[in-house]
Amino acid sequence: MTSKFNLDAKLNSKDDCGVCGIPLIYQATPISKSCIFCGEIHNTNIYCPEGHYVCDSCHSAEAIQILRNVLNSSNSTNPVEILETILAHPALPLHGPEHHSIVPAVIVAAVKNTGYSVPEEAIEQAIKRGTKVPGGWCGFYGACGAAIGVGIAISIIKEATPLTGKPRSLAIEATSNALSNMVDGHPRCCKRSSRRSIEIAIKFLQEELDIKLGNNQPMACSYSERNKECVKAKCAYYM
Ligand SMILES: [Zn+2]
Ligand SMILES: [Zn+2]
Repeated sequence: MTSKFNLDAKLNSKDDCGVCGIPLIYQATPISKSCIFCGEIHNTNIYCPEGHYVCDSCHSAEAIQILRNVLNSSNSTNPVEILETILAHPALPLHGPEHHSIVPAVIVAAVKNTGYSVPEEAIEQAIKRGTKVPGGWCGFYGACGAAIGVGIAISIIKEATPLTGKPRSLAIEATSNALSNMVDGHPRCCKRSSRRSIEIAIKFLQEELDIKLGNNQPMACSYSERNKECVKAKCAYYM
């Protein structure tokens, strides 16, 4: 399979098909496809018109390693800063399910860096739970995976389970806050959603759990040129 790779297209097209570089199809009805990397067969709503399909796990593999590297070396309590460092890595796809792990892991790492006691393996748990939320979840299921990431982070920090009353409610409330702040009438942008999720998390942690994270400075977006669906001035991060 790898002999079919157009390397230039691959390098320049993190945002389209990772194999041939042409824009992906997002369709309402799933079809069965075999991942070109691992061969696993999945039902998918997202694939390349040339037939290429990359499963969520293979799509996210490199980004998750980048995420781990950044989190291992960061002692920042500012999740905006940590998020932007990860997003800026040249190998990170513009959109995709890796953002569903990045958001909760960044929140948990920033909380941990304040000295707040978090459960053992909290960051790995955040990554693992985030990877369970598939790509395209926002449009296909009505709940953005980055917003769910805020709930995942709160769940991990407060050790929620389906049987805990208050912690479970806090996690749901956190997701709900993030989701309600994403109702904007625009096509998805995983950078916009990740940034909004982190902002909501900072506010929520301070108000509900008295955990103060670093400064919430909005960053100017440097991805709008790459994003065909960028809504430009209608986006809060377009400066
Ligand atoms: Zn393709
Ligand atoms: Zn795969």
